[in-house]
Amino acid sequence: MYEIPLFNLNYGEEEIEAVTETIRSKWISMGPKCMELETMFQDMLDVKYACALTNCTAALHLACYVLGIGEGDEVICPSLTFAATVNCIRYVGAVPVFCDVESFEQFGLDPVQIEHLITPRTKAIIPMHYAGFPCNMDEITQIAEKHHLYIIEDACHGPLSEYHGKKLGTIGDIGCFSFFSNKNISTGEGGMVVTNNEEIYNKIKLARSHGMTTMSFQRASGHATSYDIYSLGYNYRLDDIRASLACVQMKKLKNDLNRRRQVRAWYEERLNGIEGMTIPYQNHAEFVSNYIFPILLQHSNREKRETFRTMLQQRGIQTSVHYPAVHRFSIYQDLPVDLPRTEYITDNEVTLPMYAALEKEEVYYICDCVKEILSEL
Ligand SMILES: *Cc1c(COP(=O)(O)O)cnc(C)c1O
Repeated sequence: MYEIPLFNLNYGEEEIEAVTETIRSKWISMGPKCMELETMFQDMLDVKYACALTNCTAALHLACYVLGIGEGDEVICPSLTFAATVNCIRYVGAVPVFCDVESFEQFGLDPVQIEHLITPRTKAIIPMHYAGFPCNMDEITQIAEKHHLYIIEDACHGPLSEYHGKKLGTIGDIGCFSFFSNKNISTGEGGMVVTNNEEIYNKIKLARSHGMTTMSFQRASGHATSYDIYSLGYNYRLDDIRASLACVQMKKLKNDLNRRRQVRAWYEERLNGIEGMTIPYQNHAEFVSNYIFPILLQHSNREKRETFRTMLQQRGIQTSVHYPAVHRFSIYQDLPVDLPRTEYITDNEVTLPMYAALEKEEVYYICDCVKEILSEL
């Protein structure tokens, strides 16, 4: 009998040493470690600017804020996502407009429906790259250019994921990443915003720290003695303790993702041909992060999905659901929607365990349990 968790934190002595070193340095708030992390991130994604933040929710908020999205504006977004992708639109007083996903194989925003949802008030599109698999960015970019819309990529699931050779997060105007505990880069809490646009970067940097023109680290190193505040800002800074964790995690990332790729290949091989389920993005060729491993039950419903999950739990396998539909949450229930694919997926998706340390025999055990349970249901 196994006990297989959904996720396993890829931490070792290196993380403990990095944090200890930062604490010994006595500079624990935003400082040299954050700058080192930003440089590493820029190099990793081959992007001009990276700005470390307290979490991805702050990243999404600042993205909407610095692009000037506000009262009366509309932003097209998925419902098949974590609520933060949608909440950020409300933070700036704009209206979320939910768009369905492309298909049961491709969980990204449907470009055809995006076009139908555009009105004179539409300002931006927020594609979310589910599990690290890219949305159809060629078409989304074309639509955005045609209608003069911004693109904010929610790339929380996709560090190092590629789309036609480009890194996710660097295709739109702004890319947002999360370092929450269960993400590919884990620091407990943390986030990053990336852009190739200098003006956007400068605005984000200001808004990250109260709108203050110079930072305390720069003052402490003798480069400046006073500051001005000329635009409204927040305190969305990351601290150097977490930044030092992120630096270590970044160094492990490529190996971690290569292992996840292997785990996904074992899943795809062993689940192949099992009746009653499908694997979204099956045989996807480009490099992706595999943040999670989703399957979709066929001819199913929410009760059947919950029974399926309970039976896996009884066999020692932890599962999850990514995600409950955002448009069904109480605060969004009054918005008009046409989301048949999202509604089926949010009722029938099951997330199986995915992390670098999963062994082949564990993956096979999970697949065999899935097969057995589906034949009984
Ligand atoms: C985790 C996540 C977020 C929020 O990130 P935080 O860093 O926890 O604020 C937003 N969008 C998606 C798709 C996520 O997975």
